[in-house]
Amino acid sequence: MFKGFSRFLQRPGERLKTLFGPESAHTDQDASALQTVLPRDEHNVSRKNLSENALKVLYRLNSAGFDAYLVGGCIRDSLLGSQPKDFDVATNATPDEVRQLFRNSRIIGRRFRIVHVRFGREIIEVTTFRGRHSDEHGGNLSQQSDEGLLLRDNVWGSVEEDAIRRDFTVNALYYSVSDFAIHDWTGGLKDLDARVLRLIGDPETRYREDPVRMLRAARFAAKLDFRIAEETDTPIRELAPLLLQIPPARLFEEVLKLFLSGHAVQSFRVLRERGLYAMLFPESDEVLNEHPWAVRLVEQALANTDTRLAEERPVTPAFLFAALLWPCVQQRTLRVSHEQDLPDVPAQQAAAQQVISRQLQHTSIPKRFSMPMREIWDLQQQLPRRRGRRVYQTLEHPRFRAAYDFLLLREEAGELTPGLGEWWTEFQQADDDRQRQLLSSVDTGNPADASGKPRRRRPRKRRRPANRPTPPTLDD
Ligand code: ATP
Ligand code: MG
Repeated sequence: MFKGFSRFLQRPGERLKTLFGPESAHTDQDASALQTVLPRDEHNVSRKNLSENALKVLYRLNSAGFDAYLVGGCIRDSLLGSQPKDFDVATNATPDEVRQLFRNSRIIGRRFRIVHVRFGREIIEVTTFRGRHSDEHGGNLSQQSDEGLLLRDNVWGSVEEDAIRRDFTVNALYYSVSDFAIHDWTGGLKDLDARVLRLIGDPETRYREDPVRMLRAARFAAKLDFRIAEETDTPIRELAPLLLQIPPARLFEEVLKLFLSGHAVQSFRVLRERGLYAMLFPESDEVLNEHPWAVRLVEQALANTDTRLAEERPVTPAFLFAALLWPCVQQRTLRVSHEQDLPDVPAQQAAAQQVISRQLQHTSIPKRFSMPMREIWDLQQQLPRRRGRRVYQTLEHPRFRAAYDFLLLREEAGELTPGLGEWWTEFQQADDDRQRQLLSSVDTGNPADASGKPRRRRPRKRRRPANRPTPPTLDD
């Protein structure tokens, strides 16, 4: 599979030294000087492994007289020998020209105009080469905030200019069906060989233009198992707070890519080590720093997510967010019940509300996910209550399965003493007689009756006058 490409990779020394020169940040000026072309017989990207629809788009653009390349993750992943999941095309045709060539297409985005060409369920994203920004374009085509944040980028350019406006060198490899070669203007082939993720250009400027590139660095490092080049890595710790400028809806999308692409545990570690997780989930980060069980719970949830994806089983953002934020809910519930003397159910509900509204300032959580997330949390208080009809109501709750999985997760992480999970496992499988027995074991206080309450108890300050009864709390 690697035949052609590895042949190239095994002898990069001499030839590449002259092409790339010393390891340097690439600038607009040196882009064309750096060009290397990997001919068809020296790489493993074959039309057989590429999307037919993407190829159709390339051919049609070419026959209308435009240049067109496949670029980005699809070429990077193909060269690495894995199956690409989506296909991005770059061309010198403007969005309007692309739109006219494909009936099945529409222009999306205003700040970054791109064209989606639809073939049934597959969408091919077609982007016009981005060019250099200059004052003559005014604020109409490109716009940058005082902090360097790129607000709009619709300045068209050449393919070389397009290459250096991309994020990482390994994401800037271009494949054309006019010569079937790979074109590299940024040193991407060399970095791919060395398994290094390197930002193109001056890292600080590039992060300021778009702080999400820091999250992308973490995601690709985790997904590809690449090292982040030192000059790309070092500024992240200091610049991480720039992520606070990014709209919560975009960060939500990035979080899904980070944690629902099969490399969640590794992504989480890379993010935490660099202070990026704290910018996405500040409250969760604080609790994780204080409670080892919370780290175990989150890592276990992410590991389960990775396993499910590897087995092609469904995963939901609701469960993911439920796990990431649960330690905050627990912490706040204790505080609320203590400060407001509330019973555990309303205390947890108030805590959940507070946690969600604080989190929404950082990442959005669409209602269709936050509602089931809350139900998973609420059910954690129902699962230990196994008397009378309540147990059947819990079992029939539409979110029972997720809540039960969540309970097992909490036990696995050592937040709870094991027992309750096993009781529910057995109860679900039992016939009527056995179910009755299990229910009576709860009444008689059999060991199967795990309390389902946090292991560690906190001494509770009693502020109430002695003659007033103390309401039940999490600690009772
Ligand atoms: P994958 O699809 O596997 O997540 P990808 O590299 O294709 O990875 P996309 O988000 O699909 O990532 O983006 C396609 C390409 O667009 C990237 O490879 C990169 O060249 C460019 N790109 C995407 N986002 C940015 C960004 N924020 N800054 C600069 N270039 C970007
Ligand atoms: Mg892609």
